Amino acid sequence: MINQHACIGMTSQRTRDRLIDRLREQGIRDMRVLSVIRQIPRHLFIEEALAHRAYEDTALPISHGQTISQPYIVARMTEALLETSPLEEVLEVGTGSGYQAAVLSRLVRRVYTVERIRALSDLARQRFRELNLRNIRAKHSDGGMGMPEYAPFDGIIVTAAPEGIPRALVEQLRIGGVMVMPIGNREEQILIRVTRTADGYDKEFLERVTFVPLLGGVI
Ligand code: SAH
Repeated sequence: MINQHACIGMTSQRTRDRLIDRLREQGIRDMRVLSVIRQIPRHLFIEEALAHRAYEDTALPISHGQTISQPYIVARMTEALLETSPLEEVLEVGTGSGYQAAVLSRLVRRVYTVERIRALSDLARQRFRELNLRNIRAKHSDGGMGMPEYAPFDGIIVTAAPEGIPRALVEQLRIGGVMVMPIGNREEQILIRVTRTADGYDKEFLERVTFVPLLGGVI
């Protein structure tokens, strides 16, 4: 109780509304995305010590050297994913805090999310339970190969950067399905949208970004 009161100023609806204004200023237009970001309590996805910064438009550290993405990037990727066609089944690679999956879960029928660090996967799963987000299936494994057991997906979102487009992920998209992901090395990355076609895929450049690298194996 005491903590809740102490935090109230920093996590109030007014604070959240300011974040939405900022996302609008930066060009986020999709009302569905803005409305979900306004609703999802981002402060519950980070450590209590940083909760007062939850509605700043900034990436923040979570444990194990990973980060919760900047709200603008979450909004931009979600918007880019939803732009083309209605999505039912979506895969996220890189659960991290679980925030991106929580946002997606309010916009599509089912979210599958995979994380290679067990402690993060467990914590995210606990948050989904507490928030009663029942259409998210979280798995602890190496997501570089996707989740073939649930493929094909209408959309895939990758929140850690591989150097190039993983073929296994493209193959798990249905034809016409889209994948939004960063690619590049530690210094330089771009956000792209890949659309699966009958004989391969199309690729669009969205913007420059910085993500943690996509790594192999589980810990
Ligand atoms: N979507 C997250 C952002 C997390 S940062 C959020 O909303 O908080 C990216 C995450 O990708 C990290 O937690 C990292 O451990 C994870 N990751 C990196 N390589 C991976 C892989 N091959 N499979 C699954 N997860 C991976």
